[in-house]
Amino acid sequence: MDVDCLITKTSTTVFIKGKLSAIIKSYCSRCLEDVSVPIGGNFAYTLIPAKAETREDVELTAEEPEISHYQGDFIDLTSIICEQIILQIPIKTPCREECKGLCPRCGINLNTSSCNCHLAVVDNRMAVLKKIKVKN
Ligand SMILES: [Zn+2]
Ligand SMILES: [Zn+2]
Repeated sequence: MDVDCLITKTSTTVFIKGKLSAIIKSYCSRCLEDVSVPIGGNFAYTLIPAKAETREDVELTAEEPEISHYQGDFIDLTSIICEQIILQIPIKTPCREECKGLCPRCGINLNTSSCNCHLAVVDNRMAVLKKIKVKN
């Protein structure tokens, strides 16, 4: 994992600009094969002390998620970077765009094998569509 950070500090406010790239290990959301997903992106944080005395002029709401707090004399970059990684992990991680996945009926990996179940599945979908059309 690579992380580049530029940290600038005014009297109490710390600005962090960074760029991260990493490869996460995951499973294909379709066929459950192991996949390595490259993630990366820029991030920017504004950190203010946890016990801010100027509460009136800094309204901390969900609208400003990039504002974080720090406590004491040091900033925990690890938690910031972890948060960024979590934010950038895609919810679905197919091993490739055209992954056929597993057969929903017999569980066979359709990338490497084929079965006859899919014919029945297609038939069911057509039946559902027909029902919807009739109702409308
Ligand atoms: Zn896959
Ligand atoms: Zn099957």
